[in-house]
Amino acid sequence: MSNCVFCNIVAGKIPSAKVHEDEWTLAFMDIGEVNPGHVLVAVKPHVENIYGLDDRQAAAVLQTAARVARAVKTVYSPGGLNLYQANGPAAGQTVYHFHLHIVPRHENDGMRLTWPAKNPPREQLEANAARLRAVLD
Ligand code: AMP
Ligand code: ZN
Repeated sequence: MSNCVFCNIVAGKIPSAKVHEDEWTLAFMDIGEVNPGHVLVAVKPHVENIYGLDDRQAAAVLQTAARVARAVKTVYSPGGLNLYQANGPAAGQTVYHFHLHIVPRHENDGMRLTWPAKNPPREQLEANAARLRAVLD
């Protein structure tokens, strides 16, 4: 897609600070890093979000993420590390080409994700699981 920023990065038409490249993925530094060592792992083909990934692409993304995470741990010795991945506007996705954030974390680094846990009854969890099992391919 010619107007997609990450397609242009994959094609080398827009510069990026590359960390790793293989057949299916490209890992590069996030231009708006939260902390030094914040890397994005993108799939090379234009796939908008997680719903469009095939099994091979999905596996390749996590394989690259694990390798890059180990490198980030070695280089930056963070106190922790988050994987973050957004799909769709309500989830905060801003670039519509699948990518996974690898974010090294430090105490009081200002990154915040609120987590409003609801703790529903067990029957509700079972009902939710049954609905999902019925449509899993
Ligand atoms: P998301 O909001 O999860 O879709 O994340 C998009 C990310 O892409 C943001 O963290 C941006 O800082 C990053 N980004 C956008 N343009 C570029 C670029 N040209 N090079 C590197 N990172 C970029
Ligand atoms: Zn794209």
